[in-house]
Amino acid sequence: MHSHHSHSGDYVAHGVDPLEDVTSKAIEKKFHTYCLTEHMPRINAKFLYPEEQEGSIQQDAAVQRLQENFLNFLRHAKAIQDRPNASNTKFIVGTEIEGCDEEHISYGKQLMAQHNDVVKFCVGSVHHIRDIPIDFDQQCWNQALMACNNNLQTMLLSYFNLQYKMLTVLKPLVVGHFDIYKLYLPPTLRINPKTGDVSDESTAVPVSQVQPIHFWDSVHKAVVRNLQFIESYGGLIEINTSALRKKLAEPYPGRDICELVKTYCGGRFVLSDDAHAVTQVGVCYEQALKYITETLQLTQMYYLELNAQGDLSSKTLPIEQFKSNAFWGSNHL
Ligand SMILES: [Zn+2]
Ligand SMILES: [Zn+2]
Repeated sequence: MHSHHSHSGDYVAHGVDPLEDVTSKAIEKKFHTYCLTEHMPRINAKFLYPEEQEGSIQQDAAVQRLQENFLNFLRHAKAIQDRPNASNTKFIVGTEIEGCDEEHISYGKQLMAQHNDVVKFCVGSVHHIRDIPIDFDQQCWNQALMACNNNLQTMLLSYFNLQYKMLTVLKPLVVGHFDIYKLYLPPTLRINPKTGDVSDESTAVPVSQVQPIHFWDSVHKAVVRNLQFIESYGGLIEINTSALRKKLAEPYPGRDICELVKTYCGGRFVLSDDAHAVTQVGVCYEQALKYITETLQLTQMYYLELNAQGDLSSKTLPIEQFKSNAFWGSNHL
């Protein structure tokens, strides 16, 4: 089994368990490949999260601490990668990009080059719209919508345009949680279906009745543009089960986008748990298996492999082999 995206409580404030415990769990669960992808440091204090500024810590010191945490993470993750383990689990070190804005996207590129001896790939993610985090809490998500003139079409376009910027600069091998904006999208939010404006007029419809990706041509075009770009450099799209543990009906990305990935991006999916805690290692994978085999009916899964020379490549696993993996037996269905 594989995961291409994970964190720990050692190196990110919202993580829970130590990296040693997270990786021990991956070994215990006999993962074939487990990628360690701590967030790249944010360099502007305006992107600090409340938990990173607790107590009397100054903003500059908090930003500095992110830098130190990242270097410590790289050292630690490399040591885990190099250390033999009982299940022969292969650990690959990467980083999750913080595509906050153009400054961070450029910095991500610089960071990848600076640490290319250890950091072999990145998970290309966007967690902000108009400088406001969209996966932190409902209040922030609402603020991001307000910053987009209270218009859902504008909000989604803003997200996909920033994602495109991140994609074109970084060409991330794995594209993270493609539709993370849906985490706090309230299904009861009423919008004008033509414009995307939040509205309480009688013609407004609940967002649950609208398929945002297909509803507005502008959004559909932006998604297709992004996928075609990912296709052009051979990037992979992760199926990320953190949405399922947060009680959404589907992983990231949802079926509507996955169908477009099949059309425009060769159906190149990898699997990720995006774990921040021991209990999240391989979390909701049985639901993901159903999603992969029954809903999406994929014929193969992709995964990353590091050779003895330290070169990374993507491999495929036919779906029959994926389904009969010993992981499912030992981790019960
Ligand atoms: Zn993320
Ligand atoms: Zn993550």
